[in-house]
Amino acid sequence: MPRRKKNSPELLKKPEKRNEKIPNRLLGMKDLVGSEYRCFDLVVSKALEFSKLYSFTPIKTPVLETFDLYKKSTRKSTDKEFYFVEGEKSEKVVLRPEMTQGVVRAYLENNLGESGLPARLFSLGPVFRREKLQTGRYREFTQANLEIIGEKKPLAEAILITVAHNFFEELQIKTQVQINSIGTAECRREYGNKLLAYYKERGRRSKLCHYCKKNLGKNCLSLLDCKEENCVKLREEAPQIADYLTSESREQFAKTLEFLDELNINYNFNPYLVRGLNYYNDTVFEFWPINDDGVLLGKMALGGGGRYDYLVEAMGGPATPAIGLALGIERTMARLKDKHLLINSQEEDIVFIAQLGDQAKLKALQLFEDLRRSGFNVRQSFASDSLKIQLEEAVALRAKTALILGKKEIMDGTILMRDIDSGAQETVVYKKIKERLSRKDKLIEKRINNRKEGGLYGGL
Ligand code: AMP
Repeated sequence: MPRRKKNSPELLKKPEKRNEKIPNRLLGMKDLVGSEYRCFDLVVSKALEFSKLYSFTPIKTPVLETFDLYKKSTRKSTDKEFYFVEGEKSEKVVLRPEMTQGVVRAYLENNLGESGLPARLFSLGPVFRREKLQTGRYREFTQANLEIIGEKKPLAEAILITVAHNFFEELQIKTQVQINSIGTAECRREYGNKLLAYYKERGRRSKLCHYCKKNLGKNCLSLLDCKEENCVKLREEAPQIADYLTSESREQFAKTLEFLDELNINYNFNPYLVRGLNYYNDTVFEFWPINDDGVLLGKMALGGGGRYDYLVEAMGGPATPAIGLALGIERTMARLKDKHLLINSQEEDIVFIAQLGDQAKLKALQLFEDLRRSGFNVRQSFASDSLKIQLEEAVALRAKTALILGKKEIMDGTILMRDIDSGAQETVVYKKIKERLSRKDKLIEKRINNRKEGGLYGGL
């Protein structure tokens, strides 16, 4: 683990208090409002869409679990990152710091393997880590998790990496997969000893950063992940785990890379990628953002995962190979925002109903229900009496069409149909409104498709 840089991310700053009586949110936690919430919604919907596309079954597990669930499978140095909650009697309860162990517990408790393996499980929700604060590192964040339980073939690696690759690609985020094999626990033990001996030789230890010096005897592999200049230099000459893999591990990795080549997925064999958790074996991977020229934009992973062939058994189940992937929703959102790819493609067809006067309000309400039942994406702001405010609301919602009902329209049996973008208005016979809207929908659809040819959000 690298020593974390001290900087002043927005999460470290206490929100400015306008009123002393208003409580502050906790450090490292975030409120999502307005366009940020819409961005969250877009990314989560995309993750859900992909989980369905690749036949993952959704499950929901509790946010609270026993500490025992994580005790064995988490590095000792991360213990302090748990949020402890008061449990029954002397039971130690924590807010989940990740999803996998909860999913495996649920898989075993509910006999999810019974209906045939592999089980493909999707879960989504908040996770909590009491981490040191840094830009892009929150204490509550959201993960979309995909697990394939009961599959040893490297096809499982290929599926998960493809899902994540396509998920980012659809959101127009360019990534490179960093991938490595960390072999079995035995390979790592042997390799760890060699690594330790290497760092102890020729005064190398003294050149390590404070954090790595501390970790040398405890978790030697974590030194490979350090970003301090001296430590990076020292690791260049260090032994590599690839030379300590068993023939099975080597074959698993070679086949995985073959698949990625065939699938045309941009990857980098990264011998220094070890990932923190000690339940991983063999393949580990992370998705790092790159720019249009393929240059890495830092090492802040947007998603990551790996094999955990021994976890199910360690948790009391039968020996069952498995692999998982976690997509970080907030970090994905941050990449979307960087590119100003904001989000209105989903809601292209919003129809906003505006009204003026009590009689019109009643009729507008009936029209709203009628259109809603017929499948139109309708919105309204019936609490408001001002047409100006209602139309402003329509613009804020990015509605394409406003239907305006006033006294005159009610008397004429018509409705005013306004194109929000151009401001053009036409009077439509009230009874023909659905037919007229459907025609407009088709035109919009055509426009979106034309734009999609230039990219998902067509240069938004
Ligand atoms: P991990 O379980 O640490 O591999 O995390 C999986 C993904 O969750 C990462 O690739 C990130 O996108 C995201 N993630 C991990 N830690 C944080 C954090 N502290 N704040 C925000 N996102 C995170």
